[in-house]
Amino acid sequence: MIRFDKARTHVEIPASFAVLTSRNDGMLQENAMVRRNEIREGEVAVTPPPPTDAGLTFIGRIHTPWTDRTMTPRQGRHDGPECRIEIFEPWVAALKGLEKFSQVEVLYWLDQSRRDLVLQSPASNRELHGTFSLRSPVRPNPIGTSVAKLVRVEGNMVTVQGLDCLDGTPLIDLKPDRCQFTPIAPKQPGDDEIAS
Ligand code: SAM
Repeated sequence: MIRFDKARTHVEIPASFAVLTSRNDGMLQENAMVRRNEIREGEVAVTPPPPTDAGLTFIGRIHTPWTDRTMTPRQGRHDGPECRIEIFEPWVAALKGLEKFSQVEVLYWLDQSRRDLVLQSPASNRELHGTFSLRSPVRPNPIGTSVAKLVRVEGNMVTVQGLDCLDGTPLIDLKPDRCQFTPIAPKQPGDDEIAS
């Protein structure tokens, strides 16, 4: 157990520790769950094939208040802290028109994740779930997605609420929320296709 100093705004947690929560008596208690790269009891890792270059280009970086995975929200909220998405050149011109939307889909690369688990136990209770049945950051290609609330676009900075990633997380893409977006290109036959 670690003494919780109420004056401190940041608590250093060694990687080997489980998630800590504060108790009524001011102490931190160790929870069963671990959320860094530890493997939990019963979890199954595989040896992934050697990575091939999928040709991804990181187009920016996300600035958030979180520097430790155990302190980061598991899913962002639209009333959560403002986060700033920095767009790198030569992509800044691609922001034109984004300000018309109130919600944007953000795709990011959860760069500190392990990538080899097929069965995971998020609650560390031996109950196993397939990676593709979870939104865990631990996946073969650790892509995170969030529909965030757009606050403002200024120069190369997009401010949003609703993210859940570490400070410095690489940005893969930004798109308008699909519910707010009407295709601009002319209609094509597949648009109206339904199951027979
Ligand atoms: N909203 C996204 C989704 O559903 O695809 C991500 C959800 S994932 C459960 C969010 C968690 O990923 C955070 O709570 C944190 O533990 C972890 N995380 C955030 N940024 C990360 C990073 N850069 N590398 C590895 N893990 C990260």
